[in-house]
Amino acid sequence: MICHKCGQPAIGICKFCGRGVCKDHHSTSLPTIMAMYLGRDNTPKAVVVSNVLWCGECQPQPEPIEMPEFF
Ligand SMILES: [Zn+2]
Ligand SMILES: [Zn+2]
Repeated sequence: MICHKCGQPAIGICKFCGRGVCKDHHSTSLPTIMAMYLGRDNTPKAVVVSNVLWCGECQPQPEPIEMPEFF
């Protein structure tokens, strides 16, 4: 696996687009919602993870979250 920008060995793949990124070209600035669940008080909660591997180029769009089964 190589970096899609410079061809160096990649340290991982972008969480959003799946391209390889090396240590020079990855970014970790985007927090992302990993999971939604219903709390004990019936409040939907989100598990948000920051420091995910991101290539810095693609622009993942936040998706509207609909959970009609919870209401
Ligand atoms: Zn690179
Ligand atoms: Zn990407």
